[in-house]
Amino acid sequence: MKEIKILIPIFNEEESILFLKNRILNVINKIKNYSFKILFIDDGSKDGSIDLINEIRKIDSRFEYISFSRNFGKETAIIAGLDYSKNSDAVIIMDADLQDPPELIPKMIEEWENGYDDVYAKRRTRDGETWLKKTTSKLYYNILQKFTNVEVQKDTGDFRLLDKKCVQAICALRETSRCSKSLFNWIGFNKKEVLFDREKRIAGKTKWNYKKLIDLAIDGITSLSVSPLRWAVYIAIPIFLILFIYAASLIGLSIINGQAINLSQIIILLILFFAEIQLVLTGIIGEYLGRVFNQTKNRPLYLVKEINGEKNWENKNEEKNSNYININNINTNFN
Ligand code: UDP
Ligand code: MG
Repeated sequence: MKEIKILIPIFNEEESILFLKNRILNVINKIKNYSFKILFIDDGSKDGSIDLINEIRKIDSRFEYISFSRNFGKETAIIAGLDYSKNSDAVIIMDADLQDPPELIPKMIEEWENGYDDVYAKRRTRDGETWLKKTTSKLYYNILQKFTNVEVQKDTGDFRLLDKKCVQAICALRETSRCSKSLFNWIGFNKKEVLFDREKRIAGKTKWNYKKLIDLAIDGITSLSVSPLRWAVYIAIPIFLILFIYAASLIGLSIINGQAINLSQIIILLILFFAEIQLVLTGIIGEYLGRVFNQTKNRPLYLVKEINGEKNWENKNEEKNSNYININNINTNFN
């Protein structure tokens, strides 16, 4: 029987978890011929989320969890979930707040069985999101697409079904500044969209704010392409040309008219102008330098504190080790 693992990153989701469990069970209990597992990746929750999951586990052992030693962010929670799912035939990633409806799962499985490897859910509508968030998100997709040759899926988040081969491909990408959306695009394979209406969060508050979104947007662009680095050239060449023509015409005119040039204002403007450009370019270079810096530190992407209530998991799961992470040897262990 094929195993499908549902991955759910959670960060302080105690208000959503029971709703989520019921909705998921409602769906998967009706699907025959597959065995399901639900893996929560607890991204350093400080509320009662884990107690709730332990309660659920007493009744239904298909629910499992891994707990991080602190909050590492959703992107990292996703890669951790994938690392722990490499033996499953397929993986479904979804949010805990029911903005990604579990009712879409049968359709995703159907398309997977039709031969698609990455069945991604595309938002037909986005209820409960502000006008500003919708507009900025649209703008972001357009910008991202301009930067890269890889096709970027619009109105699509992390909610998707991934075949085993996609999971293994993503697990091989160990970069630190992660943007899953870019990585899903980058790996390729047969992609298929299924449409859904994005609802409001069932309970609790969004963990995102504009700073986090801007961070993610920058990670998205820089992880897909290095073309912003080329801006230096694109910006510098025309400006140099304009300045050259301008300077030549000033000198030419002053010779023809026999008048001295009043340079002071021009110089002040030019200095300000170039200072601004320097700032922009230094910022862009800094972005990449930061990434090189993070990558060369070669740290594990995350640290696991506990698996299914087992704090001493590393020793006790020795025979299953291929699927478990030796945190000291994280980069080589996955290949
Ligand atoms: N999440 C996480 N770590 C974080 C922030 C969020 O694991 O640092 C989880 C969160 O619990 C939820 C999913 O990521 O399951 C999406 O978060 P949220 O609903 O807050 O984001 P939004 O839907 O508003 O973009
Ligand atoms: Mg949400």
